[in-house]
Order: sequence, then structure tokens, then C-alpha cells
Amino acid sequence: MAEKKLNGTVIVTYRCNARCSMCNRYKAPSRQEEEISLETIKKLPKMYFTNITGGEPFIRTDLKEVVRELYKKSDRIVISTNGFFTDRIIDLCKEFPQIGIRISIEGLEKTNNEIRGLNDGYQRGYTTLKKLRDMGMKDVGFGMTVQDKNAPDLVPLYEISNKMGMEFATASLHNSFYFVEAKNIIHDRPMVAKNFENLVNELLKSNSPKKWFRAYFNHGLINYIYGQKRLLPCDMSFDTFFIDPYGDVMPCNGTKDKEVMGNLNRQSWDELWNSPEAEKVRRKVRCCDRDCWMIGSVSPAMHKYIYRVIPWVMWHKLKSMLGMKYSMFENKICRDLRDGKVTKEELDKCSTCDMCATINNGLSDDSKEALKGKRGEDIVNADVASQGYETTKMETNREIEIK
Ligand code: SF4
Ligand code: SF4
Repeated sequence: MAEKKLNGTVIVTYRCNARCSMCNRYKAPSRQEEEISLETIKKLPKMYFTNITGGEPFIRTDLKEVVRELYKKSDRIVISTNGFFTDRIIDLCKEFPQIGIRISIEGLEKTNNEIRGLNDGYQRGYTTLKKLRDMGMKDVGFGMTVQDKNAPDLVPLYEISNKMGMEFATASLHNSFYFVEAKNIIHDRPMVAKNFENLVNELLKSNSPKKWFRAYFNHGLINYIYGQKRLLPCDMSFDTFFIDPYGDVMPCNGTKDKEVMGNLNRQSWDELWNSPEAEKVRRKVRCCDRDCWMIGSVSPAMHKYIYRVIPWVMWHKLKSMLGMKYSMFENKICRDLRDGKVTKEELDKCSTCDMCATINNGLSDDSKEALKGKRGEDIVNADVASQGYETTKMETNREIEIK
């Protein structure tokens, strides 16, 4: 029987040079010496898809070797990046022109720079994308985390990506150990949903079936920001996994605390994947009520439960061809809020936002020790400077309680 291939996400580092308003990871970096080694990467199973992410993956000077190793076991690789290390991205793409690159851009210039906390973040990201396009790279695109502040930029940014012939991936705010954040929440749900509605209609107008499925994903995001049950089951940890910089294998990046199935530095893949600890995590996933709607957990579900997605896609594409628009009020919960059957406060309670949460940042004891008396952003600043890069950042004063 052919070996079953998995969907994997490799978090190569927790170091990050950005200071995004919806993610505190930059305050909780991993120690470089502890980050996942090539020896551990060699132990990963065969994958049909691998996402390389961080932190900021290109902060690692050996990322090329990591990719080279991963290509021995993965059919397709996509790297998520904030686009800051333009020269490294270009250099990597010269060796791997088939690789996918997703650069996070959080809105038009002013909004992006405010959210990302990098004065020149938009220009850097946009310039990198343009250079990649000019090089003939095919699998290149934007990634945007939609929130109150940038929702009005959603369709304009989609239009820019369309003009450049690029992919356009969306997400919304999530809370988890991975983002070192528990207070993310959408405040003006109807306004944000209206912008998603506009995007869904734009996507449905296109001739690309891929974009029709993206329309469904964005329809699911409306459902998510209203705090409702996921449209599709979550099967993370069954044929999908995340591995963190310490070699800990986890179901996903959406849990409140880090859930560990095993450690690939110490175990073989088969031992870890078939362990009682892994089974315990799978049982937790089966009753998980966080209802995330991130592409990492939704894309595999859309493939697996395609029979539940296709009717929506076909019906809405047909309606679009007949000039009838998708409406956010197709979601009962949007009608209920509009009609006063449910209040904003009740919906807030359905979200994962927890103002009193103590955040577990998932760092190893040694990485926590390295942070004692220091700020994560100062450690990473010095790190980036020692690599010969100058950054212009906006100072943030957000305080978080980390355990
Ligand atoms: S969202 Fe990404 S780029 Fe922004 S701080 Fe977090 S890890 Fe860094
Ligand atoms: S819903 Fe799925 S992706 Fe989200 S935390 Fe639960 S198991 Fe992870």
C-alpha cells in the first residue's frame, strides 16, 4: 500500500523582526541554538504539502538548507513571511523557482505599517512581491489578517493582487499560544463581515474555480468572526501536524496552550505519531471548541469534506452568473445580530478572546531563561543587526502577562 502523505507545518523559528498588533510572538523568541535542526527535519514523514513559517522564517540564515531537505519529502512547499529579508527571499527563489511564497501585507501602506509595526513594511513587502513576479515566480501571493482596522482595505488589496496576477490569502484574528495572544477580537462584526461579503462577491465573479473555493473560505470567516461552530469538522493531528522550533509535534497552532503529541528530537516519527500521547491529543481535538478558521486547518478539511463545499460553491457561482449577489445575511447569526435576537456582548462571549488569560508562549525553559531581564524584541533587534540588516520599527507599549 502506498505510504500516506501528510500535511505539515514547520515552525522553523519563533524569532521575528516585526511587531504586529495582533501577535506578540516577537516578544517571545526562541533561542537560535535550540531551533529545529536538519537532523530533526530529516526524520519528518512524507508530505503532500508543507508550510514553512515562524516567527519570521527568513531570519534563519540556513533556511535554504532546511528547504533543500524538506523538498526530499514534500511535494509542495509554501513559505509564509513578512517579506522583510528581500535579498534572502530572492536568493532562495532562484534555487527553488517552484516554491510558494506568501507575504503578509495587512492593508494599504499606512494601515499595514501601523499593524505590522515596521515603518517600511509595506514597501518592503510590495517590492519583494514585485521582484518575485518579475523573476517569473508563479506561486506568489499576499496574505492578510483581517481586523477592524484594515477591513476597508480588503477588496482594494485583493484588486492589487489580482492586477499583479497573485494569490490572495485571508485570515482573521485568532488567539493562541502561537500568537502569544488571548485578547484579539473583532469589535465591529457587521462592518468587517460586509467587507468579507464584498470580497466573496469579487471572488465569485472570477473565472477561476480556485477563487470560488476561496469565496467559500471567506464565507466561513464571516461565520468564524461571529463566534459560530466551524462549517467543517477539524481533523488536525489525524493527517495534519505542526512542528515547533523545539521539535515538539502539535495538532495545530490554534490551541490556548501548547498541546504536544511527542518530540521529534528525541523520538522517531513512527514512535511519536503512534504514541499514547498523540492519541490523547487526538481525543482533545475531537472535542475542541475553539472553532478556528485558518487556512492551515480549513484547507485539508475542504479537500476531505469537498462534498459539503461543492454545493455552496456551485449554487453561489450560479447566482453570481445570474447577477444575484452573495449576502452575509445568508448566515443566520448575522441576521440575528441585525434583528436584535443576539447582542454584541453575547457574541463576544462566543469568541476565544479572554482578557484575563495568562498566556503560555510555548517557549522552552532555556528560551524563557534567555528572556530574563531582557525584552524579546531587543534580543531579535541585536540578532538582525548582527546579520547586517537595519530595521526601522515603531515602538509598542503593549504589556502582556506571560507564564
Ligand atoms: S504575525 Fe508573524 S510577522 Fe507578525 S509578529 Fe507575529 S510572527 Fe511576526
Ligand atoms: S479547532 Fe482545530 S485548529 Fe482550532 S484549536 Fe481546535 S483543533 Fe486546533
